[in-house]
Amino acid sequence: MTIGRCAPTAASGSQSDRAALACDHETLIGWLTRLQLTAIRDQLDNLIDEAARREMTLREALAFLIEREIARKDERRIEMASKIAHFPCARDLDDFDFAAQPSLDPRQIRELAACRWVAHGEALLLLGPPGVGKTHLAIALGRAAIREGYSVLFAIAPALVASLAKAHAEGRLEERLGFFAKPKLLIVDELGYLPFETNAAHLFFQLVSRRYERGSLLLTSNRSVGEWGAVFGDPVVATAILDRLLHHSQVVTIRGDSYRLREKRRSGLVKSTQLHQEPLA
Ligand code: ADP
Ligand code: MG
Repeated sequence: MTIGRCAPTAASGSQSDRAALACDHETLIGWLTRLQLTAIRDQLDNLIDEAARREMTLREALAFLIEREIARKDERRIEMASKIAHFPCARDLDDFDFAAQPSLDPRQIRELAACRWVAHGEALLLLGPPGVGKTHLAIALGRAAIREGYSVLFAIAPALVASLAKAHAEGRLEERLGFFAKPKLLIVDELGYLPFETNAAHLFFQLVSRRYERGSLLLTSNRSVGEWGAVFGDPVVATAILDRLLHHSQVVTIRGDSYRLREKRRSGLVKSTQLHQEPLA
């Protein structure tokens, strides 16, 4: 059996009358709207024509239509989840030039993009000097997690602790901790660019404890783990945070020159040795 365009006027008899009704364009559009099959609805004539042109069986045509609908629904879901995630910009692994960053193992990063660590609630630390692609990779991995169906939130460390401190002062800490604990993956970017105040370090510790073994954390930092005592302004809190973070975790250290200054270096404006002196902010 092959698919052709419906011809409502050709029907006769009660059974065919029902078929004729079903084929009425406006009715079909109404049904598709009611079922929220908007991709099929918006392309109805084109899809039916295409199915007919390719002489699809009824089963093939059904699969063809459903496939379009699923693709649209996935697209919408990813778009919506990306807005909720608050990424500062769009970055993907496909735009990442691995040749420019030889200290990274592309296989390890692609493996991370499969998000098994997110499924297991593990932590990921991306460490390295400024401009080497930590934020790029964090966003790319966050978007990969969304494609895999996980909820994601991206936050910059100083803004996150400021928001916790404000909530604390206003007696809403529980609510705010709940907000940051909810997504399956929380990305905290730029840890260590600014040192934490003691109170902020305690608040961050509460968040890490709340998420521990429940949701994943992806942290980026320009400081090595050994320097986190200074970052948190308190070696005891830093140890408690690291204890939870490193328990189930992967650490990816990027060594190399700033990608931002690559072009300048190529044009001779900056010498390679100067790259390591880039301001931290
Ligand atoms: P970091 O967070 O380590 O300071 P970013 O991720 O912000 O660095 O990278 C700085 C800029 O350079 C961004 O626009 C990023 O997309 C780009 N970039 C960094 N590394 C690469 C790379 N290997 N391939 C492509 N673009 C890169
Ligand atoms: Mg960054």
